[in-house]
Amino acid sequence: MLSKKEGKGKNKEGELAAQGGAAMEKIERSDLLLVIDVQNDFCPGGALPVPDGGAVVPVINRVIGLFPAAGATQDWHPAGHFSFASSHPGKKPFETIPWHGQEQVLWPDHCLQGSAGADLHPELEARPLRFLLRKGTRRDVDSYSGFLENDHRTSTGLKGLLQELGVRRIFVAGLATDYCVRATVLDGLEAGFRVAVLVDACRGVDVPAGSVKKALEEMRSRGALLLETRDLSAG
Ligand SMILES: [Zn+2]
Repeated sequence: MLSKKEGKGKNKEGELAAQGGAAMEKIERSDLLLVIDVQNDFCPGGALPVPDGGAVVPVINRVIGLFPAAGATQDWHPAGHFSFASSHPGKKPFETIPWHGQEQVLWPDHCLQGSAGADLHPELEARPLRFLLRKGTRRDVDSYSGFLENDHRTSTGLKGLLQELGVRRIFVAGLATDYCVRATVLDGLEAGFRVAVLVDACRGVDVPAGSVKKALEEMRSRGALLLETRDLSAG
């Protein structure tokens, strides 16, 4: 069901970026690298592994030092969180339930507050991170986006934080392309930031099948720039 590296070391995210024919992108003083949910539970061996999820780590490590600032999000759930299938008797992971007019995917228990699974990947170069924003902390609402909880109203505080740091453009990397990366990118655009997706530094769940491609197309059509890290040049 899930994507693996295809062909000449290129994932499906990368192929779409290549089709976009992106030019070199110079990093500016008001840019920030936002690393989404690069946590043990989302990497192979974790509770909710994104296929090939750990592959984003060396890619992020290679470019994080190019940015004048970087920050990260961390999925951080209390026990019994609403998004866990185990909180809904009779439901299995990856089934969906209706929630306030939306569809909520039910996940295996993951990223429990304080657990090793919730830790950032141990090989992620974390020293340049200026902040670590924890989301999904309320038991009754999920939060895919780094900006807003899934009610699309409750702010995480990220917008104000970035404004305070003087950030104008966000480069997004991490996990998963079709969930938390997508939601963060769309809300970032909505919040008035310019947003670029570093597609080779992201991996997706691709559940349901095709959702990675759909997410990339949606992000691009809403105004995000799709880039590969090789398209970056130091400012
Ligand atoms: Zn979660």
